[in-house]
Amino acid sequence: MDQKGLLIVISGPSGAGKGTICKSLLNANKDIKISVSATTRSPRKGEVEGKNYYFISKEQFEEMLQEDALLEYAKVYENYYGTPKNYVLENLDSGNDVLLEIDIVGALQVKEKFKDGIFIFILPPSLEELKNRIVGRGTESDKDIEIRYGCAIEEIEQVIKYDYAVINDDIERATRDVEAIIKAEKCKVSRM
Ligand code: 5GP
Repeated sequence: MDQKGLLIVISGPSGAGKGTICKSLLNANKDIKISVSATTRSPRKGEVEGKNYYFISKEQFEEMLQEDALLEYAKVYENYYGTPKNYVLENLDSGNDVLLEIDIVGALQVKEKFKDGIFIFILPPSLEELKNRIVGRGTESDKDIEIRYGCAIEEIEQVIKYDYAVINDDIERATRDVEAIIKAEKCKVSRM
């Protein structure tokens, strides 16, 4: 029997609610390990070093790249984000499931390396609802709203590259869907 953990990758456009679903999934499944990414963006209010991200300089990020310390990386909205490699590999080897909440560019890099990872895309219930959510945050200018909305539509087209799509019309239901996907994957004969 293969004792390796599952690599679970979750992506989705801004406003789809993937962060909330990941939080809810981790709350209900304490044995899943979340990978903390490194980023060059500045911390937002309330974000904690080592919990939300490892906040590092561009030079430190480049060093990590040179040392091949990142499993994947991407530039998102002018900042770099990457997944530290060792944490993921060590946990998978120890039989722990690991969750990555990363963008599509990074997810596709991971897919090349981990053919048996689970790739889940979170979708908003509708484009109208997505726009309402982006507007509802009240943090973006009209121009930024249009940019984010335009990017979101392009990102949604990438759903085809994922294994599963979960529609987030209700956090609890969407979380249960993700849990069901994970359970089903664990029961696959090919993983035994
Ligand atoms: P935020 O700045 O809002 O926390 O994240 C912006 C975007 O970067 C989100 O889509 C998030 O999923 C993505 N992201 C966070 N960490 C990583 C990472 O390690 N790698 C990649 N490729 N994307 C990431």
